[in-house]
Amino acid sequence: MTPTENLQHWINNAATSTQDRTGKIYNPATGEVARTVQLASKATTELAISAAAAAFPKWRDTSLARRTAIMFNFRQLLTERKGELAAIITAEHGKVLDDALGEVARGLEVVELCCNAPYLLKGEYSQNASTGVDVHSLRQPVGVAAIISPFNFPAMVPLWFFPVAIAAGNTVVLKPSEKDPSAAIWLAQLFAEAGGPEGVFNVVHGDKESVDTLLTDPRVSSVSFVGSTPIAQYVYATGTAHNKRVQAFGGAKNHMLVLPDADLDLAADMAVNAGFGAAGERCMAISVVVAIDSIADELVAKIAERAKTLRVGDGTRGCDMGPLITGEHKAKVAGYIDAGIEAGADLVVDGRTGTVDAEGEGFFLHPTLFDKVGTNMSIYTDEIFGPVLSVVRVQSFNEGIELINASPYGNGTAIFTNDGGAARRFEDEIQVGMVGVNVPIPVPVGYHSFGGWKASLFGDQHAYGPEGFKFFTRNKVVTKRWLDPSHGGINLGFPQND
Ligand code: NAD
Repeated sequence: MTPTENLQHWINNAATSTQDRTGKIYNPATGEVARTVQLASKATTELAISAAAAAFPKWRDTSLARRTAIMFNFRQLLTERKGELAAIITAEHGKVLDDALGEVARGLEVVELCCNAPYLLKGEYSQNASTGVDVHSLRQPVGVAAIISPFNFPAMVPLWFFPVAIAAGNTVVLKPSEKDPSAAIWLAQLFAEAGGPEGVFNVVHGDKESVDTLLTDPRVSSVSFVGSTPIAQYVYATGTAHNKRVQAFGGAKNHMLVLPDADLDLAADMAVNAGFGAAGERCMAISVVVAIDSIADELVAKIAERAKTLRVGDGTRGCDMGPLITGEHKAKVAGYIDAGIEAGADLVVDGRTGTVDAEGEGFFLHPTLFDKVGTNMSIYTDEIFGPVLSVVRVQSFNEGIELINASPYGNGTAIFTNDGGAARRFEDEIQVGMVGVNVPIPVPVGYHSFGGWKASLFGDQHAYGPEGFKFFTRNKVVTKRWLDPSHGGINLGFPQND
């Protein structure tokens, strides 16, 4: 098939075409190139930054009532048309339709939070801090916010950031993943339909050239990045060196610890859901099950039995698991399976072959399960980002905690147990930002904040929730005295309150 559509940028509420390089967008279920996308040059990226910078003064001064009204409209439209967005996600990412709808629902939570922005943007007030002196604080927008998002949640990750940034009075340039950028454009068009003014929300497609422009242009005030750890480190170092506020979310290797008293059927169901959902292409996927040796045989058998029942195929056909994002990524994941076998892990379920319900040559792998995985093997140390689940056996609860805490990553983790004391200790001692107790993918709800620790986040403010509003605003404190000021005369001492 020859692609006819060449996806354009979205600047000042208009589709914008340029003579830039182009990239290919696949339908991963068929392996065909579905369309192409323009990849922004430095000059094109600067056009979007200029649009956002020009729109900022007016948007910053737009009343909270008006900003919130647009957010309510956007929420309404997105709720009514979420099926359209889910279909776009499935067509370009490959995840099954139900999962795509789930992604949209989790993004909608953040829009709903932003309908409540005035509450979250309220300052504080102290009357009579000193005699006749009042003090208040206010949170002001930072300016132009750059958002750089990964392929694996083409709608939800942009939705973690742009509604918060915009509700807080900033203007936005979003650079979505060039592998599945249509969801971002659809969201920007919908935001314009909801009443978003020109220049408030712009989208440029692109790769490193565009990202580097966003990281270095002096008109950009903040950078929210989500992607792999090496790029997150680079983005954090470059953005902060150019005086930007940066939050850079990186990769993950999430462990699920199963204690002997756990409900093993529940744990096996959850390991399969969290290990193979979205073909393992989730930053909160479980990629390692840590099993106490005494129950490991039974648990592995239960996971294997379930993994073998999963139907793999085109996400529009009611399957359980879709394809990987590209042929290149599929080959990389398959390479890890070979490496696991070579390193001596027990291959319990081999995902390299199996039946697929799809037309053409899609980028499919089936669920793969390894047991007796060593912590020096690449299938344990590396983020694979595919449907490959490793079981590591430990002798005790303490050994399980030590293993998880030794990981360089700290995005998500979970414990499966019926022992409240053990869960409480786990919750306290584990060095991970998001923890589940009998919940395998503990992505916080919209009114809490999302973020990992260690190599899973560079920067200190998490996404959405109260921390999202802090990231997209600066605090200012005003100390004031009115009328009848007491004239104490000249006094060069540091001001004291009385
Ligand atoms: P990626 O790092 O390849 O790409 C992320 C973004 O960076 C894209 O927009 C891409 O265009 C851009 N980019 C790629 N190479 C670049 C370069 N050399 N210089 C500048 N920018 C560059 O990540 P991906 O493959 O799209 O997404 C998967 C990764 O994202 C996984 O590691 C996953 O764990 C991570 N992720 C993390 C979270 C989290 O919250 N911590 C959430 C989702 C995904």
